[in-house]
Amino acid sequence: MRALTFQAPGEVRVDDVAEPQLEHAEDALVRVEASGVCGSDLHIYHGRVAIDPGFVLGHELVGTVEQVGAEVHRVAVGDRVLSCFHTACGTCFYCMRGLYQHCAGRRVFGHGVAMGNLPGAQAERVLVPNANMTLRVLPAGVSDELGLFAGDVMGTGYHAVFSAGLQPGDAVAVLGLGPVGLCAVQAARAAGAAAVYAVDSVPARLEMAASFGATPVHLTDEDVAKTVSSATGRRGVDVVVEAVGDARALGLALVLVRPGGTVSAVGVYAERAEVHMGLMWIKGVTLRTGLANVIGHVDRVLAMMSAGVLDPGPLVTHHMPLQDAPEAYAVFDRREALKIILRP
Ligand code: NAD
Ligand code: ZN
Ligand code: ZN
Repeated sequence: MRALTFQAPGEVRVDDVAEPQLEHAEDALVRVEASGVCGSDLHIYHGRVAIDPGFVLGHELVGTVEQVGAEVHRVAVGDRVLSCFHTACGTCFYCMRGLYQHCAGRRVFGHGVAMGNLPGAQAERVLVPNANMTLRVLPAGVSDELGLFAGDVMGTGYHAVFSAGLQPGDAVAVLGLGPVGLCAVQAARAAGAAAVYAVDSVPARLEMAASFGATPVHLTDEDVAKTVSSATGRRGVDVVVEAVGDARALGLALVLVRPGGTVSAVGVYAERAEVHMGLMWIKGVTLRTGLANVIGHVDRVLAMMSAGVLDPGPLVTHHMPLQDAPEAYAVFDRREALKIILRP
């Protein structure tokens, strides 16, 4: 089958790879109909997250179930499904506490050997382990290209806001307005945020945040700290969502948050990063970080999408055939696209 493979930093290629096969009774085999290109794929593309050449990329998908193992009961052959970006066993110490993102057997699609050696979804077919946990039937009225948001970026935007304990009436800053940050803007508004300050340097992304009800703040043309401080009576915001994965953004988050507030850093880090611990200490900041618990949130996220409370529709800016995935990576890397939908 055809699939997008990592070759070297800055180089991905559509190759012929082996067809996936069912391996366990809880596996499903899914024919991919739509997959997304994500900011997390860019970390691999930039060589920041190391994986082996030839590994199949991609972790956002919607498709049709073609085969199931004997113990799969949540989905059946012929169902149209969306997948969460990682698997969970459902029975380990972490899963029993609902911390599915920390599952002892967790495997992340398209992230190489270190993240569970699970080939990705930018492919014609994908093997889905622990299908009862990982897959959901696409609700009627949710299109395939929007369904794939629930298993990753909308789930992550929801998680960023939920894990920060956002209260109705709070003021929020969202740093980074890629798909994750824009989903966090929507989730914050849906959770009752009174004000959302949306920070980036890409004009189209700032405009989209404004269309979702946020106040856009340009990262370099404006003094972000001054703008947020004067808008919040010099206190700072109750919650900052860091949706970049860069120590400069984390540093700014600690400046923008009010004393006793929370920084929810969902941007990915793979290395050491220095923060101003003195500032964090004096403000008594709570820092939440790590993988989003998308399996824990996916049913609520789908319900909110079905109801139209969350709508990632405007984020889909490009459709491209899987064959053109290398071009899709280059376009997304130049920040000329938000969500690119690839179709085999
Ligand atoms: P993206 O690359 O499309 O967006 C990042 C945005 O941040 C860009 O618009 C960029 O202009 C902006 N930016 C860069 N530096 C900035 C700064 N200092 N201040 C403010 N904005 C800045 O990526 P995305 O798809 O939206 O993903 C965002 C992050 O979330 C990535 O790190 C991704 O890996 C991560 N992510 C995490 C999870 C999780 O489970 N925690 C899940 C999905 C994605
Ligand atoms: Zn992703
Ligand atoms: Zn588990």
